[in-house]
Amino acid sequence: MKSLVLERKGELSLRDFAIEPAEASLGARDVRIKLHTVGICGSDVHYYTHGRIGPFVVEEPMILGHEASGLVIEIGADVTSLAVGDRVCMEPGIPDPNSKATRLGMYNVDPAVRFWATPPVHGILRPSCVHPEAFTYKLPDNVSFAEAAMVEPLAVGVHAATKARIRPGDVAVVMGAGPIGLVTALSAIAGGCARVYVSDLAEKKLQIAESLSSAITGVDASKESIADRVKAETDGWGCDIVFEATGSPKAAARIFEPLAPGGCVVMIGGQPDPISYDAGAAMIREARVENIFRYAHVFPRCVKMLSSGTIDVKPLITRTFGFEDSVKAFEIAASAPPSDVKMQIELP
Ligand SMILES: [Zn+2]
Repeated sequence: MKSLVLERKGELSLRDFAIEPAEASLGARDVRIKLHTVGICGSDVHYYTHGRIGPFVVEEPMILGHEASGLVIEIGADVTSLAVGDRVCMEPGIPDPNSKATRLGMYNVDPAVRFWATPPVHGILRPSCVHPEAFTYKLPDNVSFAEAAMVEPLAVGVHAATKARIRPGDVAVVMGAGPIGLVTALSAIAGGCARVYVSDLAEKKLQIAESLSSAITGVDASKESIADRVKAETDGWGCDIVFEATGSPKAAARIFEPLAPGGCVVMIGGQPDPISYDAGAAMIREARVENIFRYAHVFPRCVKMLSSGTIDVKPLITRTFGFEDSVKAFEIAASAPPSDVKMQIELP
């Protein structure tokens, strides 16, 4: 069976691709997984259209994909928590277990982390992969492969909500109604927010956001100021938390405006270049600012919330392609259709 290979910027092919023997060999605490469903991420599309993300440059053909679920088909000699036939989802970043960051519990910021589809590490739009048991999570029967492939983006939202230290009844703003903005809004509600304002420039995206929960209010940032709207509806006080999920320096420049005194801003959107924000506005609020890099320790929580119905990601999966159509799927994803949130590819 073939793999989806990014040959170079702008050129994808579906072809046989030999994985290095070292990467394909099963260690004692590894499992071999037949891939089932893979979500297309903004980062996959960015590598396709730009050939790089910041310092990570595609220099050699690379298999794309990092949002995945699959079936365990082989287990290493010392694996105890998984068995052949288990349905699983996988955390795509593997840190060095002995690094200082990992030992301190911050494995996501381990400089040595190897993350799928981040050059030079291959992704998983391929027949099978070998993965550590410790980063592979068994799925309850009522969580589908499609939902499980949403755990990776959902983990970003849940990590952001965790960093925000939400209290029940908080009011939050999420800047940006892309896939990460929407999973952040769902995570904020699951974490206890009473109301989440989601702002974006695209009306269709705001409609999707509002359809997810009666606790979500869409705000069209091209027509009204998010700060004015939030203040008008909070007796002039502002919101407890702002989640920045656009990655736009313009949004970041005014990030404190809707925030209440003592509130928290969580920076989620990637900022490839240095940006400026209004430190004076942060100061007079004694604002707390948090930054996140991917996630840590949240995959099991995401799986539990999908299983219990605390979070429903099904409405976010707007298109599913067969593997044979994956090049076309990426072309469509690169055109960013306004009514799509998450596109997924199913492997045979
Ligand atoms: Zn992703």
